[in-house]
Amino acid sequence: MGTIENKVIVITGASSGIGEETARLLASKGARVVLGARRVERLDSLVADIQKAGGTAVAQATDVTNREQVSELIQKATTEFGQVDVVINNAGIMPVAPMAMAKVDEWDSMIDVNIKGLLYGIAAALPGMKERGEGHIINVASVAGHKVFPNFSVYCGTKHAVRAISEGLRMENPDIRVTTISPGLIKTELEDSTPDPAIREGVKDFYSQHAIPPSSISEAIAYAIEQPAQVEVNELVIRPITQE
Ligand code: NDP
Repeated sequence: MGTIENKVIVITGASSGIGEETARLLASKGARVVLGARRVERLDSLVADIQKAGGTAVAQATDVTNREQVSELIQKATTEFGQVDVVINNAGIMPVAPMAMAKVDEWDSMIDVNIKGLLYGIAAALPGMKERGEGHIINVASVAGHKVFPNFSVYCGTKHAVRAISEGLRMENPDIRVTTISPGLIKTELEDSTPDPAIREGVKDFYSQHAIPPSSISEAIAYAIEQPAQVEVNELVIRPITQE
């Protein structure tokens, strides 16, 4: 078995939901976690909680749509702890609507956060990992990266892209571990990210019938990291038993 202890792990979107839960779990297993998101007050209180529990965490305000800021987040990890062992590209948004509503700004935002933000994370971390000849990149996709749901077309497009990018990254880099995590319906703040109230209520109703806790995903992420160095967990799909 590999170990999580002492690993330097950068997590984007760590201020709520899956990212927050993952930060708590990995820190409790001895990882040194470096947390990025836009809501700094949420990150600061998470860092305080982790430190109070005896863990090691630092945070930095990071908008993943800003390439410089993503680069600075990776730099912060290197400055504080010497290297980056694992990057978890987790930040994501899901403002959904029928395509006929032509919510082009929301399409742009989903592409910027879910695809470009993830690519910036890869661009910032991969060169250092290649130099050391080891590292682990974990990309959060979705069941929506495996199938398409009406009204979720663009979101599904971004998550299909995450799976394609991860697979290419894996094939090109036999020295770097690449893991795709594909959650189903998970109880987080994601269900609130649709601006249109009527559509949002429909989404929330669907979530209330099925969603499982974010610990189901943080445990999967920990499992992938804990494997021996020569073992690469390529993808884990975790969904509620009642989800199609
Ligand atoms: P949450 O809404 O609870 O968390 C999303 C996180 O992303 C927040 O920490 C938010 O932080 C961050 N984020 C959003 N925009 C940006 C940005 N521009 N820059 C930096 N951080 C950003 O949702 P989840 O925890 O559910 O989502 C985490 C990942 O899991 C996403 O990629 C999502 O698509 C994926 N997923 C979730 C599922 C679910 O059912 N919950 C199902 C399948 C996949 P802040 O606002 O502070 O910047």
